[in-house]
Amino acid sequence: MNKIVIAIDGYSGTGKSSTAKQVASRLGYTYIDSGAMYRAVTYFFLSNEIDFTKITEVVKSLEDCHIGFNGTSIFLNGKNIDHEIRTMEVNQNVSPVSAISEVRTKLVEQQRKMGEEKGVVMDGRDIGTVVFPNAELKVFMTAEIDVRAERRRKELIKKGMDEDLEIIKENLKARDHIDSNREDSPLKMAEDAKEIDTSQLTLNQQIDKIVEMAEEIIYAS
Ligand code: C5P
Repeated sequence: MNKIVIAIDGYSGTGKSSTAKQVASRLGYTYIDSGAMYRAVTYFFLSNEIDFTKITEVVKSLEDCHIGFNGTSIFLNGKNIDHEIRTMEVNQNVSPVSAISEVRTKLVEQQRKMGEEKGVVMDGRDIGTVVFPNAELKVFMTAEIDVRAERRRKELIKKGMDEDLEIIKENLKARDHIDSNREDSPLKMAEDAKEIDTSQLTLNQQIDKIVEMAEEIIYAS
């Protein structure tokens, strides 16, 4: 059976990652969380006290920043950083870091390599527009801001990190603003993407919808 590439983009906290992970598992595909890669670079800069507003420092330090996955776990220079990349400090710095072209070039190259064999589900902000413009299925997820903030809070609580709902909401809005307005690869819906508003959907309904769309394409090819 032909394997396809599924690109899932959308605003912060719309449930892209949880959905994409399950879609991949249902199809027997590999799930790649591109946001985790931007978070890993951000964590790398913060923990090494790299002034990422200075482009020469960024370029030099990126040579020592090696990111990889083992299953869905993310590693920075061989160390598992699944937990470290989900802190509020990383949340607050990841969008400015992601707006740096040198960071994007490095990560997009790695992401394209990971998708070469197809059979991947990748979620992010520019997957359908920049990373895989030829993806067979592109989904763009949206949801109301209050729903997104509440979901993100529950996610953080599960990881043992409680945060004020208003702070979470402001962070989501700030990230959406920077992500949508940056010069390099801004967050926008690809022309051929299918939009799904998840405000009223359960996680299982989101997953079912995308798996259905994917299977239609897979069986038709
Ligand atoms: O998906 P997640 O919310 O973990 O992504 C964290 C941040 O990484 C986003 O707010 C965005 O700034 C950046 N990002 C990006 N391009 C991607 C994935 C994530 O710029 N493909």
